[in-house]
Amino acid sequence: MKIVFATNNKNKVKEVKAMLPDDIEILSLKDIGCTEEIVEDADTIEGNARIKADYVTKNYGYDCFADDTGLEVDALNGAPGVYSARYAGEEATYEDNVEKMLKEMKGKSDRKARFVTVAALNLEGKQYLFKGVCEGKILKEKRGHAGFGYDPIFQPEGFKRSFAEMDLEEKGKISHRGKAMKKLITFLLGYNSDN
Ligand code: IMP
Repeated sequence: MKIVFATNNKNKVKEVKAMLPDDIEILSLKDIGCTEEIVEDADTIEGNARIKADYVTKNYGYDCFADDTGLEVDALNGAPGVYSARYAGEEATYEDNVEKMLKEMKGKSDRKARFVTVAALNLEGKQYLFKGVCEGKILKEKRGHAGFGYDPIFQPEGFKRSFAEMDLEEKGKISHRGKAMKKLITFLLGYNSDN
């Protein structure tokens, strides 16, 4: 089966491709000719995932899924959450956001944080939501070079390495996106055989 993954983020595509069984093939936004920017202006992670999936289904007619992720830091009252991409400003790079987080967390002893992903799947006129959470902590300095975003400063619970010190496969087994995608894939495979 072929399904659109509504993202322009190459890192996410790489991660998700590594999780999919051979019989599920991903089409990118580029593959379907969607080159415009999809404005993610909801105030929840779930809302943004739905906006992206609905945009593709409404304007291009494809079944598709989209994910949205936020990093929630306890000592910052859950920030940056849904604003994780723009934490250091509208045009912020991953590096800018990481530096801002390190600065905001300087001297704080409570470093508990979690990544939350919601994946929205539009399939044959219905929408299904899948959530994945990965608990962990914000490190005091960057570690590792793999991954993207806040990976160098996030250490998942039960591990002594940051996400940026793990390969795709290892991160995918325990990550927020991995957990949400696992639920989505299980659903898709079951849906296939039922229909
Ligand atoms: P998005 O809106 O789902 O693309 O995610 C918002 C922001 O969260 C991104 O710009 C990244 O900075 C960050 N982010 C999302 N997923 C991850 C991840 O798996 N690791 C580290 N940072 C992430």
